[in-house]
Amino acid sequence: MALIVQKYGGTSVANADRIRSLANRVGRFKQKGHQIVVVVSAMSGETNRLIALAQEITPNPNPRELDVIVSTGEQVTIGMTCLALQELGYKAKSYTGSQVKILTDESHGKARIINIDGHNMQKDLAEGYIVVVAGFQGCDAQGNITTLGRGGSDTTGVALAAALKADECQIYTDVDGVYTTDPRIVPEARRLDKITFEEMLELASQGSKVLQTRSVEFAGKYKVKLRVLSSFQDEGEGTLITFEEDSKDNNMENPLISGIAFNRDEAKVIILGVPDTPGIAYQILGPIADANIDVDMIIQNQGADGTTDFTFTVHKNEMSKALAILRDKVQAKIHAREIKGDDNIAKVSIVGVGMRSHVGIASQMFRTLSEEGINIQMISTSEIKIAVVIEEKYMEPAVRVLHQAFELETA
Ligand code: ADP
Ligand code: ASP
Ligand code: MG
Repeated sequence: MALIVQKYGGTSVANADRIRSLANRVGRFKQKGHQIVVVVSAMSGETNRLIALAQEITPNPNPRELDVIVSTGEQVTIGMTCLALQELGYKAKSYTGSQVKILTDESHGKARIINIDGHNMQKDLAEGYIVVVAGFQGCDAQGNITTLGRGGSDTTGVALAAALKADECQIYTDVDGVYTTDPRIVPEARRLDKITFEEMLELASQGSKVLQTRSVEFAGKYKVKLRVLSSFQDEGEGTLITFEEDSKDNNMENPLISGIAFNRDEAKVIILGVPDTPGIAYQILGPIADANIDVDMIIQNQGADGTTDFTFTVHKNEMSKALAILRDKVQAKIHAREIKGDDNIAKVSIVGVGMRSHVGIASQMFRTLSEEGINIQMISTSEIKIAVVIEEKYMEPAVRVLHQAFELETA
């Protein structure tokens, strides 16, 4: 007997029929004698619908109230899932995040999980219940409802698996595993049987929506056995996230690049003509961090004539907030020539542990893009990743040519 956490995404609970088929699958695992905790997302499109609904009242909804609204999507699906399981004759019990309780910090819209109380779930499992938990949500120490950021049900699933010391966490979605890149953009993309935890973390943080970044972080921290599978197929092993980086690293036959990620959600904040003096980066980025705005890439140009240019990227949703902070609080100190935003960008990243032991990957990437006439605006690298910012309209062609250039369809 194993304890398995199964997370089902929006398309897997899109309507009553899909929820019935989910219940059938869960039932098959239960009948094999396993204990099952199910985590569900909202029905596909529902979270977007709820955000748009709130925005009909105000374009900038209060974050606490927005969380109250968007968390209802998952509350509907836990109830629906339990009804479907009960119709099949199983004992099933639903929990919202605060009922569990999944304790988070107070950052509405991107809260971090601090602790999960497993007591009630463990008691239910011991009594033969299938436990069904709402993904994407928790509550802070004051009892306010919080949400974990888009795609956050993945994190609920992995965090529950860690807290309950589950034998495996299975992420059921609308693709049958992790691919070399999003198969919607590159139909030749290939499913990977395995991917290292490190590579998965880079792919997710560079924008591969198949797993939320924090879910991969949790899996790494607590060594959760994590697998991505299709909820539309009965067979198939999906993709296993492994922790054996070293063995792969040393194997010369392994591909240099494992996958390509892309992200349309970032925007550039550009500050032109600021004094090239110590402390300028802190003066610019300190207030941005204080406002809890995450910064991704940062570039400061080589100074000329005593001034320099400074560019960084943030989530598109936070660009206007970042610009307002710079104009209202920072400009009086730095006297920039110009402060402007550009959200017409995309980031494309190639990822692979094979990069560590090979030179020339970056030049191959840059050559491939230049042959397509694609201009690179920003570059950032890590040991196992090279990321470039380009104009948004070139994103899909860039992903396709890079997939071909690194022979990912055949590797
Ligand atoms: P869910 O609602 O089940 O959480 P998501 O839409 O969040 O599903 O994630 C699954 C989607 O992720 C796929 O449909 C696919 O378009 C996209 N995706 C992006 N990159 C990859 C990748 N490397 N491998 C597989 N899917 C990917
Ligand atoms: N329903 C949430 C979203 O659409 C969480 C999730 O699906 O993981 O982002
Ligand atoms: Mg998702």
